[in-house]
Amino acid sequence: MMKNAARSKSLLHKPRFAILLSLLLLPLSGWTQLNVYFLNVGQGDATYIELPGGSNVLIDGGPSSLPVREFLMAKGVRRIDHVVLTHPHSDHYRGLKKVLQYFEVKNFYDTRVENLGAIGDNNLRELAAAQAAKVHFPEVGQHMNWDRNVTVKVLNTCSEVIQTRDSTRINNCSLVMRFYYNGTGLLLTGDIEASQENAITRVFKSGLESQILKVSHHGSAYSSTPRFLERVKPVHAIISYGVGNNYGHPHADALLRLQAAGATVYGTQDGNLLMTIPPPGSPKGIDVAPLPFAITPVSAEELASEPVTMPESQALEQLLNSPLR
Ligand SMILES: [Zn+2]
Repeated sequence: MMKNAARSKSLLHKPRFAILLSLLLLPLSGWTQLNVYFLNVGQGDATYIELPGGSNVLIDGGPSSLPVREFLMAKGVRRIDHVVLTHPHSDHYRGLKKVLQYFEVKNFYDTRVENLGAIGDNNLRELAAAQAAKVHFPEVGQHMNWDRNVTVKVLNTCSEVIQTRDSTRINNCSLVMRFYYNGTGLLLTGDIEASQENAITRVFKSGLESQILKVSHHGSAYSSTPRFLERVKPVHAIISYGVGNNYGHPHADALLRLQAAGATVYGTQDGNLLMTIPPPGSPKGIDVAPLPFAITPVSAEELASEPVTMPESQALEQLLNSPLR
């Protein structure tokens, strides 16, 4: 060892070796942060991720093509390495149609759930095949080899064929993925409901912990159970929804449970939200920008004093109208 170290030391003084060494170190200096953009697509979901190694990922496309297309074009994106459809509901797949038509997509990830109440999802699969994107049906527990410094694990999906119109069954088939980079977890839950959150909790236990949580099912009352949140331990919780939607998303109960779990809750209703996980060695923590979209739920005192007696509609009103921070 000593001999090798001495030899290396002497080699360092030779310029040619110094050049070679700097080339070898290039990938390290190329390390950068992980950027995740929660896009304002109205009542739906679309998340764009830039991985530190340079690959990009789009998870769902929202209910219409314009917001996602405009975002990608403004960023100068022409090629997407990984496009994921979490489940075949229109608020997730419709916006992907134009993405598959006008952008070069390398890989397309899907479930094997067939929504008998929709035909648009099948068009999407045909478009993916037509542009020679590799189509994948990941399995639960599978690791996606997307970036050598980021662990990406599939925590939920339906990789067996299921044909149904049942909305809850389709939601519970959502591809759920956890990204882990530089000690920070990012959990993207699609539209899974309470029963599936429980199922995941039983299997993955401590492997769920994630500072950043993309809240399931647009902040529905039937997701974000206390038990699930206890395992995830979210610090930043993001809800993707459109103002004035017909579903009452986000629901006051879900907001209160997120707050009780210690999370700061953000919504995409007014604009895109960027969160950044810094590279190793950086003194910075998770960066959130811009801030104006944070939903400030009721204060801890109010939560403790009257979380049950307050009518849901009034609680929701209060949560959404409280001052921004
Ligand atoms: Zn949805």
